[in-house]
Amino acid sequence: MPVDPPGGSAPGQGRPKGPAKPCPECGKPANPAMLPFCSPRCRDVDLNRWLSGSYVIPGKDNEEEDAE
Ligand SMILES: [Zn+2]
Repeated sequence: MPVDPPGGSAPGQGRPKGPAKPCPECGKPANPAMLPFCSPRCRDVDLNRWLSGSYVIPGKDNEEEDAE
């Protein structure tokens, strides 16, 4: 009787799987030297977005908001 590994059925939640993640800018395979981006250009684009002040970290839902 096979035993399923725990915590293996939660799509969209938990820690990301796989060692290689696609470039968040263009979706191409990330360059190990440019993680998590595929090229200096994509990194620069992302950096500019950061500086613009309109960047939201995907998957990070741990910030406290003063909604009340
Ligand atoms: Zn890219």
